[in-house]
Amino acid sequence: MSRNEEFKEILQKRLTEKRYIHSLNVAESARELAKQYGADEEKAFTAGLIHDSCKDTPAGLQLSYMLENGVELSDIEINTPKLYHAMCGKVFAQKEFGIEDEDLLNSIRYHTTGRKSMSLLEKVVFIADFISAERDYNGVEIMREKAARSLDEAIVEGLGFTIKDLVDRERVVHPDTIDAYNDAVSKIQTGEIK
Ligand code: FE
Ligand code: FE
Repeated sequence: MSRNEEFKEILQKRLTEKRYIHSLNVAESARELAKQYGADEEKAFTAGLIHDSCKDTPAGLQLSYMLENGVELSDIEINTPKLYHAMCGKVFAQKEFGIEDEDLLNSIRYHTTGRKSMSLLEKVVFIADFISAERDYNGVEIMREKAARSLDEAIVEGLGFTIKDLVDRERVVHPDTIDAYNDAVSKIQTGEIK
C-alpha cells in the first residue's frame, strides 16, 4: 500500500466524512496547481491530503498534543483555537505520518494563516484549500479564475478574503496573515512577481 493510501485510511477514521472528502479534493487541487506552476506534484498531493488531519480533534486535545511536543505558541495562537489545527497538523504529520520534508511540513503549518515569503509549495496548498471541488462560497469562481491565471494574484485574493472575513466577524487576524498579505501585494506592485 502506498503512503498516501495509508494516510487515507488513518484520515478516514480521524475526520468527518465531509472533511475527509474536502481533504481528498484539496489533494487533487494541489496536485493540479503543482503541475501548472512547477511545484512537486507528489508533495503537493500529500500535503493537501493531510493538511486538515487535526481539524476534527477537540481544541483542548490539539493544544495538549502541541504542548507535549514542544510547540511554542504566541498569546494570539493560544487564544485562537481555529488556528490550532494547522500547527497541530504539522506535528501530527511528523510524528504519526513520519514526514520529514521541511517544505511539506511548512505547507501544512501555514495553510491557514499564510506567512511572509511563502514557498511555491506553501502557496499551492494555501490556494488548493480555497478552490477544492466542493467549495461553493461566494467568490469561489473568482478565486478559481485567479488561481488559473496567477498563483500570486490568487494569494492576494485569498489573503484579502481571509482578512476581510475575520474583520467582518471581529476576529483576531494573525500577524503572519498581515505579513503575508503585505508581502504578496508589495511583490506584485514592484513587479517582483506577476
Ligand atoms: Fe485547514
Ligand atoms: Fe482545509
